[in-house]
Amino acid sequence: MNKTLLTGVAAAALFVGGAASAQQTFIGIGTGGVTGVYYPVGGAICRLVNRDRAEHGIRCGVESTGGSVFNVNAIRAGELEFGVAQSDIQFHLYNGSEMFEADGAYEDLRAIFSLHPEPFTVVARSDADISTFEDLQGKRVNIGNPGSGQRATMDVVLEAMGWTTGDFAQATELPPGEQALALCDNNVDAIVYTVGHPSGAIQEATTACDTVLVNVDNDEIRALLEDRSYYRMATIPGGMYRGTDSDVTTFGVGATFVTSAAVDEEIVYQLTRAIFENFDQFKGLHPALEILEPETMVSDGNSAPLHAGAERYYREAGLLE
Ligand code: GLU
Repeated sequence: MNKTLLTGVAAAALFVGGAASAQQTFIGIGTGGVTGVYYPVGGAICRLVNRDRAEHGIRCGVESTGGSVFNVNAIRAGELEFGVAQSDIQFHLYNGSEMFEADGAYEDLRAIFSLHPEPFTVVARSDADISTFEDLQGKRVNIGNPGSGQRATMDVVLEAMGWTTGDFAQATELPPGEQALALCDNNVDAIVYTVGHPSGAIQEATTACDTVLVNVDNDEIRALLEDRSYYRMATIPGGMYRGTDSDVTTFGVGATFVTSAAVDEEIVYQLTRAIFENFDQFKGLHPALEILEPETMVSDGNSAPLHAGAERYYREAGLLE
């Protein structure tokens, strides 16, 4: 090989390398606590996106956060491009209702797809004398950190029950990653978590000490569900967690994946494509995703309009007419 050619090859390689890094686009996904389901699901999404980086130049990173409300606020502020959020939070943000009444509707909120169901999960110490949701009155309860979806949902539940935090002996605001330890150290009697199953956090709480999952099913909850399409009754299968052999009846939301209309169409298209073209692999990355079906992920659980990039992919793939 002569010298001139070598130099030419090296220069070309340098040029290609320079061009690729100049084109690299960083995207961030807001998730939740590391023992929840959002965090590993965000990791699964990034893994599939990053695999094709040489083609599209997108570098996807996951952030552990306070949860749904934190994630959508970060998207609204332009600090994160994507986030996982409960279906009730998506609804209220898009409509400017409940917890978003003060900040107003965020009309640029865009849905990409819905994910796994998230039952409102109550775990109590076996020695705390709690067998129904009503038994939480007078007990020490972790109601969740502000910014989390479970806290936002718990606030709605408290109102529906006609309770305030004063109805508990103590209401703590620990983030999900600290709940199991607090329960097993006997610092609280019960914890609530709106989360997919199986989840690391509930596994931890049910194996580290003696606990039971509690039904959340009464007239007030049923009335709450009547006019709210983003809630539905849910079952946590018996035998999934130690200490709870029968099915648990509660209500739940769905996890959804959202972004802003301001995020580039091509980026959302590439991300959506990465998930749906590698669907079996995606489902295999966390047991809570096993039940997902492409059709329902596109059509169910979203109140905000689909992002144009996601819509483009769904039409191409025949998932939308
Ligand atoms: N649903 C919870 C929230 O919105 C997070 C659950 C999880 O991290 O899997 O805060």
